[in-house]
Amino acid sequence: MKECKCESIRYQNGDLQYCCLTDVNVNICYFEENGQLTVILAGGFIINTFPSKQLEIHRTATNELSVVDPNGTRFEYLNVPNEEKQAIEMFDKNGGRRKNPDGSIVTLEDMNIIRDENDTVEQIDSAILFSCPGFYVSRSLRKDFGGGLTIRVKNNESNKSWKITVCPEHRVFYVKHYNGTQEKRCFHIDRRCGHLQN
Ligand SMILES: [Zn+2]
Ligand SMILES: [Zn+2]
Repeated sequence: MKECKCESIRYQNGDLQYCCLTDVNVNICYFEENGQLTVILAGGFIINTFPSKQLEIHRTATNELSVVDPNGTRFEYLNVPNEEKQAIEMFDKNGGRRKNPDGSIVTLEDMNIIRDENDTVEQIDSAILFSCPGFYVSRSLRKDFGGGLTIRVKNNESNKSWKITVCPEHRVFYVKHYNGTQEKRCFHIDRRCGHLQN
């Protein structure tokens, strides 16, 4: 018997729902029809992955968005004061550009973004690291890694955290709990994937 109070439901059509009821606020839905995986976190953050390897981090509170497309190019949608449309920043291996709402293009020298002090993005050669309030997302840029990512969700009042590891290409995810140095596997999809080491 598991000690934690997480729940998972598998539906006949292959859809799946995983929900954590204690310590941290995590809800994961998997949709068999298109292979989409949606992770819902506190504060209006929604993370979507697709078998194409596309990753999206929606900030519903501010309507801002980060996208990593199947090629690993990152798009940041940023609100601009007094503008109806958002600025779009695009980052690939060769650097960044910003498209302003008026259509003008600016070349960016810094690949990293600070939305606010708790919401930052750092891009390195092998990965993109998103630090958001209450969680981190690390998206691999390695060619043969299936768009793999890890999401770490923290509990601020304790040293408990959850790690969700996802291979979007193979529609696999698993969840581990950490309590200090102790780790415990909580949930695992029985599907083969050579990318993730469990
Ligand atoms: Zn659990
Ligand atoms: Zn895989």
